[in-house]
Amino acid sequence: MTRRLLGVFAHPDDESYGPAGTLATSSAAGVDVHIAVMTDGAAGTPAAGFPEGAALAEVRHRELQAAAAVLNATLHHFAYRDSGYTGDERNGDPDVFMNIDPAEPMADLVELIRSVRPDVVITHDENGGYRHPDHIRCHQLVRAAFEAAGDPGRYRELGPPFRPARLYSETTSNRWIKVFIRILRLLRRDPTRFGVNKDVDLTHVGMDPARITTRIDVRRGWVLKKAATACHASQRGGSGPLGRMPARLLAVVSPRELFIREHPPPHPGLREDGLFPPPSG
Ligand SMILES: [Zn+2]
Repeated sequence: MTRRLLGVFAHPDDESYGPAGTLATSSAAGVDVHIAVMTDGAAGTPAAGFPEGAALAEVRHRELQAAAAVLNATLHHFAYRDSGYTGDERNGDPDVFMNIDPAEPMADLVELIRSVRPDVVITHDENGGYRHPDHIRCHQLVRAAFEAAGDPGRYRELGPPFRPARLYSETTSNRWIKVFIRILRLLRRDPTRFGVNKDVDLTHVGMDPARITTRIDVRRGWVLKKAATACHASQRGGSGPLGRMPARLLAVVSPRELFIREHPPPHPGLREDGLFPPPSG
């Protein structure tokens, strides 16, 4: 039986900068990989030479298609309008993803889960990685849709109920981030104003390592992860430190992608190195 994996992400590029190593190694192992992206990415800050607004959304859709092809995944792009990062003035707009009525994206996700019938669903963690409101919204919607898709009494018009075996949140450990914050403070840099737009608070990035249940070996996936991130040129994919480092070195520096098992709930101290349940029977 073919195993199926569905990754649901907020923005075009989250699949690549996030758990692309897991997606790439899974598809190489014969898993049928699906990627769903909820927003259009129009609020992303474009690299020099790229347009803004609606024209940027078109560019980002094509970049996402290219990245999904690199990862050998089937793409489902819902393209709601994305929100900006915390504090962005566009976040008062009722039409952005963080503010819209959740009924419509919920129905999209229930229908998707029931039609793809994945064994495993992965999404952002409850912290949204670095507290991006769209990532947090995506996490909440996926959790709710995961429950609803398996409930025969809900969304009857969207096909027969289906409950995937497992739900995971992709995450980062804050262990090294805490070290990095100390280094920044020694350099008299402000860790609460980090990144291209100086709007990322590193003190809110990453999870307590004790929460992490699942570590996936992605050393063989780095060549494709790098190639997928390079597809997102409007978001500086392929440039910067990540773009310049050879995949062989990245595989040494970052050999594993980390996940928190959400469903079924982990027993205390669970440590596993795979996402899929063992074959039954
Ligand atoms: Zn994102």
